[in-house]
Amino acid sequence: MQRRHFFQNSALVTTGALVGCATPGIAETQVKTPFPVAATFIPIVGSTELFPVRRIYCIGRNYAAHAREMGSDPTREPPFFFQKPTDSIQYVPKGTVADHKYPSLTKNYHYEAELVAAIGLGGRNIPIDKALSHVYGYTLGLDMTRRDLQRAMGDQKKPWEIGKSFDQSAPIGAIHPLAQTGHFTQGAIWLKVNGQTKQSANLNQMIWSVAEQISKLSEAFELFPGDIIYAGTPENVGPVVVGDVIEMHIDGLPELSVKIV
Ligand code: MN
Repeated sequence: MQRRHFFQNSALVTTGALVGCATPGIAETQVKTPFPVAATFIPIVGSTELFPVRRIYCIGRNYAAHAREMGSDPTREPPFFFQKPTDSIQYVPKGTVADHKYPSLTKNYHYEAELVAAIGLGGRNIPIDKALSHVYGYTLGLDMTRRDLQRAMGDQKKPWEIGKSFDQSAPIGAIHPLAQTGHFTQGAIWLKVNGQTKQSANLNQMIWSVAEQISKLSEAFELFPGDIIYAGTPENVGPVVVGDVIEMHIDGLPELSVKIV
């Protein structure tokens, strides 16, 4: 019989924080299950504790030039969010080039370089001026996208999941606690493929700031510690093929690299 220790490594998650959790079963420190159950954790820089990932939220079209390249008008569109499954995380250690498997079904596999905010304090209807106090830390990640499937489903007014929410679609670096980095309101964000710059922008070009994203999200969903938010990608998304090496950067964070295999 498998015994799993959920959240035991996280000082963030107290008994109090779990009261009212939609899945009370995971509040148990030890549960018996008929087969091994995977939980998703991301290392925290400078700590032996792990960040327990609860949900992955992603904002769409959050840089004006990217919204335009996706065929929408950034001036008239309120923010919208989608989710990836928690186990779509692919942790990429600093200084490594992780193998990232080219997924099934697609012929147009795209990178999207993004800042990621990690939530340490939950809440509902969080006001914008309090929102950043809910951030535990930051990292960077790739919102990998089967663009052909995403577009095909969008054209048919069907859900996006197959284009966005597939296995390993969320490569991510270690979480940097806020005390190490401060908040990210500006700074370079870029992505290279095989050493050639593809995306290059500044975080201050985000249409909706991290604070605004947290506030808006918390109107639709109660946020909990362990939620992470992919904060959107700049313009010039594009395809990769097997053999390509993606390298992405945000000022103040170590670079993240994957090789498509
Ligand atoms: Mn994205």
